[in-house]
Amino acid sequence: RAKAAGRGVVEVFDEELRHELAVQATTEEALRRALLEGELVLHYQPVLDLVTGRTASVEALVRWDRPGHGLVPPDAFIPAAERSDLICDLGRWALAAALEQLTQWDEGEEFAGLGMAVNISGRHLASRHLLDDVTDALSASGVEPGRLTLEITETVLVDEPSALDQLRALRELGVRIAIDDFGTGYTSIGQLPRLPVDVLKIDRSFVASPGAGHADLVRLVISAAHSFDLGVVAEGIEENDQLHRLVADSCDSGQGFLFARPSAPADLALPRARATTGD
Ligand code: C2E
Ligand code: MG
Ligand code: MG
Ligand code: MG
Repeated sequence: RAKAAGRGVVEVFDEELRHELAVQATTEEALRRALLEGELVLHYQPVLDLVTGRTASVEALVRWDRPGHGLVPPDAFIPAAERSDLICDLGRWALAAALEQLTQWDEGEEFAGLGMAVNISGRHLASRHLLDDVTDALSASGVEPGRLTLEITETVLVDEPSALDQLRALRELGVRIAIDDFGTGYTSIGQLPRLPVDVLKIDRSFVASPGAGHADLVRLVISAAHSFDLGVVAEGIEENDQLHRLVADSCDSGQGFLFARPSAPADLALPRARATTGD
């Protein structure tokens, strides 16, 4: 009897697994076609320099404008893309599209000269195609490498030691590297001087909740980053109180719904905050 029940459980798992794999394959297939047919779009969220109060750069964030589904957020399809090399194709496309957008903005007045941040998956970094993809996107657009920042999530740096070699090679091209979602992984502050990075992006979970010693932690991270010559961006700023605390703690840059949500180029406006130094 126990044996039969056990077999039943195995069959249920089998069925679930088969279903999950089928859903996964369908999503992946649809996503591959979406990329070819131009259904992926980039929205842009302003990142403000908290000293001058001006928007200095934008972060490119992908959405899937999927017929019959509306605008699908990245959390709903990036994980599926990351299960195969599809994420590398997506990353290559995003790099090219974001830099092409910069060159278009450079032709006008309002958006000329902005920096651009592009999110890069750990799998793309590990694939070793990234260096070529970045080189190609830079030369096709003619954008100066120093205007491009690649955002890599913190967990990738821990999981993949050879990633550090890739990051060093990328930095030699002149592009900047940011650690995204800092504070959610296991990087210790002591590791920072050895990491080939330029910017820390403090995860919004630390910015949002003032309790649980987070305010002290944020202050500590900012001062450590500065002592290692790293810039600091706070993500997910939603309230004035959070902004004021970050400014008091000498955070360099900030991003969040308080200033602007990510938006399509046609709807983009560059917000300003009150300058913290006279200018
Ligand atoms: P991320 O790189 O950490 O991007 C920041 C996310 O926080 C974005 O979500 C943004 O809309 C959201 N956000 C910004 N300000 C606020 C705020 O004040 N409050 C709240 N609650 N949220 C805020 P989004 O666009 O849904 O992107 C989610 C994640 O998907 C990104 O997190 C990034 O890890 C990934 N992603 C987005 N675009 C790409 C891409 O082109 N390639 C790759 N590999 N990943 C991407
Ligand atoms: Mg990011
Ligand atoms: Mg982030
Ligand atoms: Mg994130």
